[in-house]
Amino acid sequence: MDQLIEWDKKHFIHPTSSIRDQQEKGAKVIFEKGEGIYLTDKNGKKYIDAMSSLWNVNIGHGRKELGEAARQQMDQLAFSSAFSTFSHEPTIQLAKKIADLAPSNLNAIFFTSGGSESNDSAFKLVRHYWRIQGQPERNKIVSLKRGYHGVAAGATSATGIPEFWDMAGQLQSGFVHAATPYWEGTQGSIKSIREVIEAEGPETIAAFIAEPIQGAGGVLVPPSDYFQEIRKLCDDYGIVFIADEVITGFGRTGTMFGLEHSGVQPDMMTFAKGVTSGYFPLGGVIVSDQIHGVLKEKSMGTLFHGFTYSGHPTAAAVALKNIEIIEKEGLVENSRKMGELLLEGFKKLKADLQIIGDVRGVGLLGAVELMEDPSANKRFSPELKVAGKVIEALHQRGVICRAVAYEGTDIICFSPPLVIKEEEVKTLLEKLREAISEVAQELSV
Ligand code: PLP
Repeated sequence: MDQLIEWDKKHFIHPTSSIRDQQEKGAKVIFEKGEGIYLTDKNGKKYIDAMSSLWNVNIGHGRKELGEAARQQMDQLAFSSAFSTFSHEPTIQLAKKIADLAPSNLNAIFFTSGGSESNDSAFKLVRHYWRIQGQPERNKIVSLKRGYHGVAAGATSATGIPEFWDMAGQLQSGFVHAATPYWEGTQGSIKSIREVIEAEGPETIAAFIAEPIQGAGGVLVPPSDYFQEIRKLCDDYGIVFIADEVITGFGRTGTMFGLEHSGVQPDMMTFAKGVTSGYFPLGGVIVSDQIHGVLKEKSMGTLFHGFTYSGHPTAAAVALKNIEIIEKEGLVENSRKMGELLLEGFKKLKADLQIIGDVRGVGLLGAVELMEDPSANKRFSPELKVAGKVIEALHQRGVICRAVAYEGTDIICFSPPLVIKEEEVKTLLEKLREAISEVAQELSV
């Protein structure tokens, strides 16, 4: 164990980590095993994985069927290229399956290995779409502040969380950010997007991208009319609307895709995470029949865009089995039902404890906001690191959650596996109550 920690410190640069902290302290937990909603570390300590790791292990840990699906596919054909006119059955089957599940206007899929690649691919596809129609000046992408779209060059630039911009040094040109509907309301956000579009010149805007619920921004649920207004706005300006369903896809919000809650169809959708529940890296972009039609008709020669793993047969076989499990076990419905219980529990905690502000959730994507005085809308001083303290208190109780803290917010995010059972939701809520109470006591509020 000590040797592992030393090698981890010396050789493993962790994603989204403080390299200095890691050098000093080493890995805090080395996980060894997962089953259902639980992870167990090398010391035998068991945790509720209330984040589905990175919002992605939708069917829960330890599902042998996925290993079996991967093994069978690897035995037969682990990999062969899908470049140009080569193809293979699992990826064809998966494309058909996802087209059947997606909104009726979205039927053609470009595969990637994750969310960032999917969003960068969407940006290139949409710019190509305009270029081949004789409008190359339409190349700007509008996105939301506090939106998260990944860490590839375009995805970082579309991301509206400034902390992620530092490493890029410089954002790509042609990315502009507008106000968030959770903070500014539907009208505030729409007004801000209109202002951005008018300032840049509507004839220069290629697309608007948003998550149905902004996950990494702190599970920011927009007002219920928001995406209808977005649809109207995009139609007014003739702008392509890209829904980033990387977190919200595949049952997370109690519907197969997050945008179903607003009854709106996007022109493109990006997905990753829950499509394989993390058992294999996979993502993709689904384009509308209209966009696909233009690409077919006007694209000249080869589409010079494709990853080695665009259409990986083993990833596709794993995704097909994962989706089969989601459907067979009614996990979308379970997400809705357990999500209601979780939200009810959050509301009860808010009624009982003094330091809870807004609580929110759609399906199994939820958040609890901590405040010094919710009735006066007074936040804690950021130096107190209240969300971090609650996360630590949860960790000690064997619960893994995620803190989001910016501009004085202290948000605890939840995204448990969709297989969570009623008793497990209750246990999670009980541990949350204990953790928040302990921190409140420590802060004497
Ligand atoms: N889009 C959203 C909404 C995400 O939450 C994420 C990752 O958390 C991404 C894109 C990037 O996906 P990946 O980390 O697979 O590149």
